[in-house]
This record gives sequence, structure tokens and C-alpha cells, in this order.
Amino acid sequence: MKPAPFHYYRADSALAAVQAAAAPDWNGNARFLAGGQSLVPALSFRDIRPAVLVDIMHCPDLGRLDLADHGLVAGARCVQSEIECSVASRAVCPLLVDALRWVALPQIRNCGTVVGSLAQANPGAEIPVVAMALNATIEIMDVEGRRETIDAGKLFANQSGTFVGPAKLLTSAYFRALRHNEGWGFAEIQLRPGHYALVCAATAVVVSEGRVAETSISVGGLNSNPYRAASAEAFTLGRDILTDTWITEAARIAVDGSPWAARADQHASAEYRQAMAIIVVRDALRSAARRAQFAPRKGHG
Ligand SMILES: Cc1cc2nc3c(=O)[nH]c(=O)nc-3n(C[C@H](O)[C@H](O)[C@H](O)COP(=O)(O)OP(=O)(O)OC[C@H]3O[C@@H](n4cnc5c(N)ncnc54)[C@H](O)[C@@H]3O)c2cc1C
Repeated sequence: MKPAPFHYYRADSALAAVQAAAAPDWNGNARFLAGGQSLVPALSFRDIRPAVLVDIMHCPDLGRLDLADHGLVAGARCVQSEIECSVASRAVCPLLVDALRWVALPQIRNCGTVVGSLAQANPGAEIPVVAMALNATIEIMDVEGRRETIDAGKLFANQSGTFVGPAKLLTSAYFRALRHNEGWGFAEIQLRPGHYALVCAATAVVVSEGRVAETSISVGGLNSNPYRAASAEAFTLGRDILTDTWITEAARIAVDGSPWAARADQHASAEYRQAMAIIVVRDALRSAARRAQFAPRKGHG
């Protein structure tokens, strides 16, 4: 199918974009156009019929990629492959780079943005899961040009989607660097390469004197939004990093502790997703623990 007719506005600044989207002519029915990789198919299927698309990819003040020792900032124009292919990004935030390799296909990652994926909040998307694991923070601009920073936990606090309405622009996302004594892991089950995750997990484990000192476990695909498995994280504390007997039990607790009922769709039943979620959490946690075991890494924190 072809999209329903719409107006197109090419914004030259972040504020111009937010104000154009909020103009009364559109009756609240405006959408920001970033990489278009989710938006254009939705238009073509006529799932959505916005009155106007506000193109944000030509706004010089919506940055691309900023790297620092403490982390990386993906501006709203930063495409996924920019981080995936950067050696420096891997040194700072290898968990995000590992997850990006699971996102769609290289051609899509060349156009799709990191921030657009957070805004889209697809249930099987990988980037929101990493954002949850690393407590990423997201900057949002309103129609007055005011900027607010919220953390990923708040962005994905609802059972599905984000609480940010289409009138607010996500201007950037900050992902912290992994620390020198921190290992990471990402695992996923998908129907075939290039598909969204049926289930996936992002984990990080900090080791101190041979024991687990801190753990992050984020689970995606099981529900409409990713969640942090707080009970499982607590269960791992103080565990011996050289053994992995606690890992399977932690994975079970992580999935049992889901805040929402598991979802079912044409690809998988809720029971199948739950069983597979235990496996991906276990695998991601094992990778993180192994990497932590061989810490310290050169570099950060
Ligand atoms: C065949 C195919 C397979 C895919 N597989 C995967 C996959 O496996 N995993 C995965 O994670 N993704 C997958 N994607 C989606 C892809 O990663 C998208 O690039 C991403 O979800 C959206 O990024 P975008 O820049 O293209 O956003 P767009 O498509 O331009 O926008 C998506 C939505 O977010 C809104 N939006 C975008 N940017 C902002 C912003 N800065 N502020 C506020 N709202 C904004 C738009 O208005 C729109 O509603 C797939 C896409 C395709 C076509």
C-alpha cells in the first residue's frame, strides 16, 4: 500500500522541529521523521496517518555521536551503524555495540537512529533493553525549548510504549561507560536474522575481590517493554565469580519476577517466551560473569 497524503516539513533546528510538530494546523497529529525505518513501513501499511512529518535529520543542533571516558551520547541524528562500527564506542560501551549487531540488518542500521528506536519502543527492540541495563538517560525537549532529562526506567515505566507523547522530541541518549572491573553480556533468540527479538537480555556484572559486587539484568521481548530484574540482581550479590552454579537460578528469578504477564503473538506463545527468556538471561549473565572474571579491562572508571 501507499501512505495516505501528508505534509512534509524539513526542520533546521530542534526547537523549530518541536514547534512545527505542535502547530495548530496538525491537530496534534504530527510525527518526527528520523531514519524512517519504522515510520515509513507504518505509513505504508496505513497503521498511522499523520498530517505532517517533521524531518529532524537536518538539524545541526541534534548531534550525532559524542564519546567520552564516562560514556557516550547519541544525538537524535546518530544512526545505529555509527556506534556499531566505531572502535572507540566499543571501548567505552561494548554492551551497546554487541546489542546493535542484533538490530535488523546492516542497511537498516545505516539509516535507523539509536534515539528513534527508544522513541519507537518496539517490544522486540534491543536498544531499549541496553538502555534499561545501563540506566541510560534521555534528554527531551518540549515546545518551549525546555530540556528535561529522564532515565530509561521512567521512559519505559508503562506496560507498553513510552510516556513521551508525539509532541515531545527526544534530543539525545546517554549510555554510561562500563567500568574497568565490569563484564557485560547480551543474548537473544530471534526467528531469523534481521528479525526483532523474541526475547533478549542485557547484563552487566561488577566484580570485587572475586565476588559479584553489582549486577544489572534487563529483559526484553517478554513483555511490551523491557524491565530490570531487581530481585535477580539482589540474588547475585556476593556470589563467587569463579563458579556459575548461581546463574541459572538468577535467570529463573529474573523471569519469574517480570512485572507484567508474558506476551503472546503470532511468533511465540507466552509459555515459550518465558522458557526462552530464562535461557537468554542465563547466557547473558554467564558472558558478563566470565568477562568480569578477566577484569580489569583497560580503560574506564
Ligand atoms: C525490516 C526491519 C527490521 C527491523 N528489525 C529490527 C530489530 O531487529 N531490532 C530493532 O530494534 N529494530 C528493528 N527495526 C527498526 C529499526 O531499528 C528502526 O531504525 C528504529 O526502530 C527506529 O529508528 P528510526 O530512526 O528509523 O526512526 P523512525 O522510523 O523515523 O521513527 C520511529 C518512531 O519514533 C519517532 N521518533 C523518531 N525519532 C524521534 C525523536 N528523536 N524524538 C521523538 N520521536 C522520535 C517517530 O516519530 C516514529 O513514531 C527494523 C526495521 C525494519 C524496517
